[in-house]
Amino acid sequence: MSAEAEAVNLPALIERFGSEEKCRAYLEELRWPDGVCCPRCESTAISRIVKRNQFDCDSCRYQFSVTAGTLFHDSHLPLWKWFLAVYLIGESKKGISAKQLQRMLSVSYKTAWYLAHRIRDAMGDDEQPLLRGIIEADDTWVGGHKRTGKGRYRENKAFVLGALERGGEIRLKVGPNQSKATHHGFIRGHVADDAEAIYTDEWRGWIGVADANTRHETVNHRAEEYVRGDVTTNAIEGVWSLFKRSIVGSYHQLSIKHLPAYLDEMEFRFNNRANPFLFRDTLLVLLGGNALPYRELVATRQDH
Ligand SMILES: [Zn+2]
Repeated sequence: MSAEAEAVNLPALIERFGSEEKCRAYLEELRWPDGVCCPRCESTAISRIVKRNQFDCDSCRYQFSVTAGTLFHDSHLPLWKWFLAVYLIGESKKGISAKQLQRMLSVSYKTAWYLAHRIRDAMGDDEQPLLRGIIEADDTWVGGHKRTGKGRYRENKAFVLGALERGGEIRLKVGPNQSKATHHGFIRGHVADDAEAIYTDEWRGWIGVADANTRHETVNHRAEEYVRGDVTTNAIEGVWSLFKRSIVGSYHQLSIKHLPAYLDEMEFRFNNRANPFLFRDTLLVLLGGNALPYRELVATRQDH
């Protein structure tokens, strides 16, 4: 089996990764494409301890498994459940909730929640190139009020900014407020200096995002103008409506605290819409990523 995995579908997934042994063998290929290597001394003189699914380093005598030092190891979950969760999260167009994962994988809610968040984190890539060419930028409010008790509601809203390169990638970020500084900071952080053009609506926060290299053009939504020649923000607005539908459909009660993770997932899925290796790439990140212990994740992310 080659590590150059083709696009995966569910029957193929079960065929290929339906057992611990198969999952283990695949992780081995991903982690050590040039042969097993000791994580401690990097020696490649390794003996296999078949019965315990471990390796023994002939140089430093360190014993390790393919999941040693990764979060697969720390979770104590069967690998095939990890694989299936990665598949389900990557493939479901509108996102998948921890509740759905709980049912599909027969795990506790706590475990499903942990899996969903770890995998979403792994899907958010940190090294994002700046957008170029023609960019549609827009903002939106997400959420509303959340019921916290009888007749009591808590503000549960966040401001989100988005930029979409035509034919390219998307960036979705939570902003602190609707100010000009927020809008300009977002553009500076995600759009190349020499981008050809930025298209927005007429919100005043966008005024002045143009410079010597980059045109700024607007459509006037208040005057019901949505397209003028090439100028439109329809694509980024389509992303908002997909995102909001996916929140209603899958996440029900969105917690604003988790919004960055959902945005990462959406962003990653969008940017990898043509990537036949999404499944493999996510597993690679999970293998190499630093394992954030469950309790630490819960402390920073979970709802009250
Ligand atoms: Zn060693």
